[in-house]
Amino acid sequence: MKKLINAGKFEILSLSSNALEVMEKAGRTCYKSQSNITNQSAKIFIEKIRKLGHESVLEHSSMTVRFYNISRGFTHEIVRHRLCAFSQESTRYVGYHKGDLEIIVPPHKINTPEIKDIDTVLTQIEECYKKLKKIGWKAEDIRQILPIGIRTEIVMTTNFREWRHIFKLRTSKAAHWEIKKVLTDLLNWCKLNIPVVFDDIQPE
Ligand SMILES: Cc1cc2nc3c(=O)[nH]c(=O)nc-3n(C[C@H](O)[C@H](O)[C@H](O)COP(=O)(O)OP(=O)(O)OC[C@H]3O[C@@H](n4cnc5c(N)ncnc54)[C@H](O)[C@@H]3O)c2cc1C
Repeated sequence: MKKLINAGKFEILSLSSNALEVMEKAGRTCYKSQSNITNQSAKIFIEKIRKLGHESVLEHSSMTVRFYNISRGFTHEIVRHRLCAFSQESTRYVGYHKGDLEIIVPPHKINTPEIKDIDTVLTQIEECYKKLKKIGWKAEDIRQILPIGIRTEIVMTTNFREWRHIFKLRTSKAAHWEIKKVLTDLLNWCKLNIPVVFDDIQPE
């Protein structure tokens, strides 16, 4: 059994280089102002649109992200966002019998004495999983004993408007520590790389 601490990461799989230009061309259709397009106009136009709250224009560009070294608890939460496409590591087709059972643990609890009790339970689960696999159980049956903290990965695609919505919810004070950490890291990346779309959102 292996404990993962603050291991959650993201990888940008797709973000089109002309994302801003696409949104500008779409948005300017509303005003028949395409003739105002220049090499520098996209950023100014998108910022204006965003400030006006005309956010449907932000739906014309999207981003695909892989989240990895995250728990099933994280993915249970992220898949509640309905305007996204998801592909997640399967617990039916991927077995956990070959290596260590990897568990995301709360970093702020790692130095408490109770962590030993958690280790004991998780080691028992790992031993039981491997034993059942050895005697021929299918992964889809053994998965019933897996904990919500088990490591997984998920790929997610959605448009910028929905990313904004997700960032607001998942980097707020009320968000769970795991999703909050990884989504805050992603938001900071977005603020750096696509500031006109994301720089008004402040993680709490
Ligand atoms: C801190 C926190 C705690 C939570 N706790 C719980 C909990 O205890 N139990 C629980 O079940 N869930 C919980 N959730 C999940 C929450 O209820 C939502 O399911 C989740 O955040 C997705 O949000 P959403 O519906 O706004 O967004 P999305 O599904 O991402 O949709 C985006 C927006 O599109 C619009 N939209 C989407 N679908 C529809 C529709 N069918 N009809 C009308 N408008 C639509 C809405 O404006 C929505 O805000 C929690 C979420 C957070 C952030």
